[in-house]
Amino acid sequence: MFLPKKHRAALVKEFGKPLVIEEIPTPEPRDEQVLIKVLGAGICHTDVHVWRGDWSAAKIPPKLPFILSHEVVGTIVAKGDRVPDDLKEGRSVLVYAWQWARDDLYTIKGLTQLSNYPTHLAITVDGGLQEYFLVSNYRFLVDAEGLDDLPAAAPLACAGLTTYRAVKKVLPYLEPDDYVAVVGLGGLGSYAIQWVRVLAPYVNLIGVAGRDESIEFASKITKLDATVNTSKVDPVKAIMEISRGKGLKAVIDTAGTEATITTYINLLTKMGIYILVGMIGAEARISPLLPFVVNERILTGSIVGSLSEQIEVVNAARRNMINYRAVISRRLKLEEATEALEALEKRRALGRQIVVL
Ligand SMILES: [Zn+2]
Repeated sequence: MFLPKKHRAALVKEFGKPLVIEEIPTPEPRDEQVLIKVLGAGICHTDVHVWRGDWSAAKIPPKLPFILSHEVVGTIVAKGDRVPDDLKEGRSVLVYAWQWARDDLYTIKGLTQLSNYPTHLAITVDGGLQEYFLVSNYRFLVDAEGLDDLPAAAPLACAGLTTYRAVKKVLPYLEPDDYVAVVGLGGLGSYAIQWVRVLAPYVNLIGVAGRDESIEFASKITKLDATVNTSKVDPVKAIMEISRGKGLKAVIDTAGTEATITTYINLLTKMGIYILVGMIGAEARISPLLPFVVNERILTGSIVGSLSEQIEVVNAARRNMINYRAVISRRLKLEEATEALEALEKRRALGRQIVVL
């Protein structure tokens, strides 16, 4: 297959400044590496933090220029000589983003997202906002054949995966007619409501957000039993009314702010579970503590998902268990990627925005 010597990439050259489109050398895959032609790359809120340099003190990103996007789908165009024969050129793949450099106890247990040697795309190594992307090892490729809209499938690598793991973690606690709230109806929330609907169809699903546009967008993807616009009503009062005084068996918090935690944790039922998803941007305190203890409430975190969960997510999308296309609000060109970051930063984005290459 013909491979160009150079390809276009969107580079973070200065924190918070527009991405710069430049030609960079196209690497030749060796050993277990695979080169893919990128078809779609999703823009996540984590990309905004990396772009602005919010975590630069922690050496994230490790260098500039840096390439964003950990949600990458493409087709195989070249491979190293130690890649198995059945991974052929032309095969559609989703790149598992939460990679690791060497095995440890966690990867051996299958908890690959908890590796002590992470090489996470667009956080510690370059991501997929470029025409060709070198995957460090063929083991990180998930078969995406059979998905009919490949660019739209890219966010399954983060937003889709993260919410799948979170919803699976709350499933053992859920009983018929329980009330479950998904707090935040952006990229993560748009998937979370779908997973709750499909994996726990017997619960009452409440969507919570601060903007009518987000609630409308989410309601078109999945039927919500009730919605709460926190900018218009007192969410505590509204949720107690909706749940007829029962409270929430589970809260899936995709916002993770001080306000959301302190508000919704006190709405949990006995043995209720609060799950914090993704990056928490604030300090928060559980107060009062006594109801938390005597009601045996559970507070836990969830970070992305394992490689095996990633395979489950792509298989679920292939079976149309979830509508991954409906989550996509905007399809941008590489030159327009900065617009997606700005929309997220200014809280104007709906669902997920992708760059189509
Ligand atoms: Zn992400």
